[in-house]
Amino acid sequence: MIKIQSFVFGPFMENTYILSDETGESVIIDPGCYERGEKDTITGYVSTNNLKVVKLLNTHCHIDHVLGNDFIKEKYQVTLASHEKEAPLLKAVKTYASNYGFPNYSEAEIDEFIDENDTVKFGQTQLEILFVPGHSPGHIAFYNREQKFCIGGDVLFQGSIGRTDLPGGDFNTLIQSIHQKLFSLDNDVTVYCGHGPSTTIGEEKKSNPFCAIHMA
Ligand SMILES: [Zn+2]
Repeated sequence: MIKIQSFVFGPFMENTYILSDETGESVIIDPGCYERGEKDTITGYVSTNNLKVVKLLNTHCHIDHVLGNDFIKEKYQVTLASHEKEAPLLKAVKTYASNYGFPNYSEAEIDEFIDENDTVKFGQTQLEILFVPGHSPGHIAFYNREQKFCIGGDVLFQGSIGRTDLPGGDFNTLIQSIHQKLFSLDNDVTVYCGHGPSTTIGEEKKSNPFCAIHMA
């Protein structure tokens, strides 16, 4: 049984996820922790639950999702895995972090490039990788078939979709990713979003105004 814990961090209200299973092994996805108290929240949860963090994952590398990358890598001596196309975005963060109010941003590199058809394993758990670009060029999502959930990053939100006006964003590509990848999952798959509450594939198919748009 996989436990999904989320924390909301920073002015962007970014959702950081810690997944763990009964073996105690866990992965941290999109650590938005920056302030001391936010970092303590993560380490407190990990130690209280006796978790062994075995990997750090980024759905994509916008600043709000990567602020705590270096801290987590150092603290737990783990590697960071994300898509190759996110590497330039991650490198760019240090050039604008101060302007966004994060002068103490500490850089960390992607150690392992992962792509669709790869899987991420921890404990007895497998996460499949979906390539869902559009919000950013190398955006990936982590899907668990057994428990029917997807850590979706900033692709699909409850009643909304990711913005596409940031560098590397493309609206048509995003809509295509949603229809071809996410909407091919079952209706009862829960989507844990990069911001805001979780939702389901069925709910968004039915009521998301952006997803009524079909690209040819
Ligand atoms: Zn983003």
